[in-house]
Amino acid sequence: MIKHFFDFAFVQGKWAQNVLLSISADGTINDIVSNSPAGDAVKHRGYMVPGMPNLHSHAFQRAMAGLGELAGPSDDTFWSWRRVMYDFLQHLGPDEFQAIADQLYMEMLKAGFTSVGEFHYLHHQVGGAPYSDRLEMSHRVIAAAEKTGIGLTLLPVLYSYSGFGAQTPSSGQGRFINDVDQYLALVEALNTASKEKAGVCIGVAPHSLRATSQEQIKTVLDVVSADMPIHIHIAEQMKEVDDCIAWSGQRPVEWLANQVELDERWCLVHATHVTEAEIKTIATAGAVVGLCPITEANLGDGLFPVNQFMNEKGSWGIGSDSNINISSAEELRTLEYGQRLLHQKRTLIAEPGRSNGDYLYDAACRGGRRVLNPGQKAGLQIGTVADFVILKDDHPALIGKKPSQILDGWIFAGNNEVVKEVFVRGKQVVNDGHHIQEDSIKERFQRVMTDLSHKL
Ligand SMILES: [Zn+2]
Repeated sequence: MIKHFFDFAFVQGKWAQNVLLSISADGTINDIVSNSPAGDAVKHRGYMVPGMPNLHSHAFQRAMAGLGELAGPSDDTFWSWRRVMYDFLQHLGPDEFQAIADQLYMEMLKAGFTSVGEFHYLHHQVGGAPYSDRLEMSHRVIAAAEKTGIGLTLLPVLYSYSGFGAQTPSSGQGRFINDVDQYLALVEALNTASKEKAGVCIGVAPHSLRATSQEQIKTVLDVVSADMPIHIHIAEQMKEVDDCIAWSGQRPVEWLANQVELDERWCLVHATHVTEAEIKTIATAGAVVGLCPITEANLGDGLFPVNQFMNEKGSWGIGSDSNINISSAEELRTLEYGQRLLHQKRTLIAEPGRSNGDYLYDAACRGGRRVLNPGQKAGLQIGTVADFVILKDDHPALIGKKPSQILDGWIFAGNNEVVKEVFVRGKQVVNDGHHIQEDSIKERFQRVMTDLSHKL
């Protein structure tokens, strides 16, 4: 048993004092007690908060960050960014992919993310032929998580079509394509391969309504176990909504809710363009909306009506999606600022009288955990994984603040440099702001990126 002691810790959405945390050998919390003496525990300076789940990532896209910013025509949208992505994928093999994923997951840990939902659709070789081991690229995701120490929910993606109504995929999509039988074999093989791996969970992910069919979604749902997370991109751009209406007469969320039984296992990624009725449907079902505010801002997607959704007691979490910038604080800040700019008001999301930072952080932690590890309890309590972050008490954004102002200081006045130490399943992976394998990971990433820059 390892024991840690904190003067202040954010436990179950509230600040507690003199907190003693006991961790079992398997990395789960054996006990957590406030107003306790330190005894023989390791004493930490700073403020302890639970680790933030990152519910949506495409690892390889970290290497494209900044490459999609060449100004295009005035009607430039997500779809022009996607063309940059397809070009980039002509040059990415397994070794390059893993170097990028190592770097990315290290950056996530340094930003206070302790687990990630990897929405993984880069299955095949350049040109679309399968690797001799069909799990090759999935193994690389798992290896990156193991190397860096981040908790992983691997979401192999079913991607079969290029548009609503089972349209033939384009040549740029060759690396993503599986039919449903190939996909289910992949999921089963990954379930077997990850069974003994601590910190790795497998889910399923129909890419979107435009890249899968009604029959495929039903076939997948028929065979997945009751505790597997189910993630899907939905209603991210208006083009997708319009195409869905033209195809089915219904909006994307409306269509999905009429086809499947939405429940707490579902993560609806983006759900940017939803009606009041769709908001109610998602909230009532207990599905989680996966918000990716930095990416959604970068791609010009639009704003999810999060304040209306919270009024319906809806659950949401945050993801870094395109990985253009890795910052849990900035994801939450962007989410809040989007609503303020839209409504020309302040503090629209939190309940009156509560700290915005406390409210946003707690809600995102709970929603994220729910769809990365369905059935597991969220936050810091007995039986959950000991994922936690210690914030610097001597950072300018935190100096002189009361505990109830600490998360406001980090989210609205600070950034990743506020993060001092990070523990995943009780093991320390970031110390004094540095990852324990930072130099070797960064050096390999630099080499790969330099080589790639000559090919692009
Ligand atoms: Zn995505």
